[in-house]
Amino acid sequence: MLSQKMQEALNKQVNEEFFSAYLYLAMSAYFESMNLSGFANWMYVQYQEENTHALKIFKYIIERDAEASLKAIDTPQLKWESPLHAFEDALNHKKKVSALINNLTDLALIEKDHATNNFLQWFISEQVQEEANAKKIKDQLKLIGNSSDGLFMLDKELALRVFVDETISPA
Ligand code: MG
Repeated sequence: MLSQKMQEALNKQVNEEFFSAYLYLAMSAYFESMNLSGFANWMYVQYQEENTHALKIFKYIIERDAEASLKAIDTPQLKWESPLHAFEDALNHKKKVSALINNLTDLALIEKDHATNNFLQWFISEQVQEEANAKKIKDQLKLIGNSSDGLFMLDKELALRVFVDETISPA
């Protein structure tokens, strides 16, 4: 059983993860509108990943015999000034989510909820990886500047990203 506070905080995080999914799906549509299909693919894969994050927490809430409450998902931003602006926003959003995961972990520690603390460790590692990935692309976009050759080369590279459900751990 989860405490009422922990249950509410985890349910809020489910919503945040679905919002993240929505934001990256909006970014995917933005890149498609610019004919940057590789960037759009990268964001679509990110959308798929965020859905698995939301579901991982949702399943945990149920597993702990607590109540899942699904709230409305906010409308994300739909347009950006440039690919660089979109990736800057993506990186800032990832940093915000990392802070939320840290707060959740703080709460689990305060409540001596060792199971939830242990559960959240996966998300802490995942956020480190995600921030690094988004930062790398953001930095590359900065280097590329106004070079359309550079942009198309990066687009080709990002087209190769494939979705893997990392929430399914080998037994
Ligand atoms: Mg996530």
